[in-house]
Amino acid sequence: MNIVMMGPPGAGKGTQAKYISERFVIPHISTGDMLREEMSAQSDLGKKVEEVIKSGKLVDDSLMIEIVKVRLSRPDVEKGFVLDGYPRTLSQAESLNELLRFLGKDVKYAVYVEVPKDVIIERLSSRRVCPKCGHIYNLISNPPKADGLCDVCHVPLVTREDDKPDVVKRRYDVYYEMTFPVIEYYRKRNVLFTIDGTLAVEKVKDMLLNILGDDN
Ligand code: AMP
Repeated sequence: MNIVMMGPPGAGKGTQAKYISERFVIPHISTGDMLREEMSAQSDLGKKVEEVIKSGKLVDDSLMIEIVKVRLSRPDVEKGFVLDGYPRTLSQAESLNELLRFLGKDVKYAVYVEVPKDVIIERLSSRRVCPKCGHIYNLISNPPKADGLCDVCHVPLVTREDDKPDVVKRRYDVYYEMTFPVIEYYRKRNVLFTIDGTLAVEKVKDMLLNILGDDN
């Protein structure tokens, strides 16, 4: 079962992708997480993409296409995968299509988690993350028990560099210009499933599992 999660930054794609990954025992492949790991490790790749990510722009297609190609050639994707944050441009979508065709696979579900711009700006601006365990909180909808501290590690939560207000606006604009057309791309291929991402996390999860449930 090969799935791609579509939608603006902050729509909850990552949270839902984790549920799918656990439920169907397939890897959750988040290109954003992969790039952040490279940045934390200060690898050559990490240093190269750092400025672009902090500014809210997209990393070059050619680089992303290569990263995903390498990742999708690993044996753990045999039963399927859930891609989160990829493809983000038409060129990435087309190259993914070609790669999967070459591997004798295809995208079975493109799940579009739809959330309006004003909700996204508010969500991302109030998102905080634990620098130690990576757990994500939201000061409004999912606050930590103690003010500003991770429930598990008890260390002060931080704001992701690209969740700062100016960058959030840019990320949304980049999404609308570059990624929104990819949704149409999958609609035309009859694999697009749209879910209202403003609903409660559990509700979104139920709807999603309902859509994917037939494959069991
Ligand atoms: P995310 O956590 O998915 O919002 O990704 C964080 C940042 O990583 C994005 O704002 C981009 O700068 C970069 N990034 C992640 N995935 C991609 C992609 N498929 N294409 C280009 N840049 C990406």
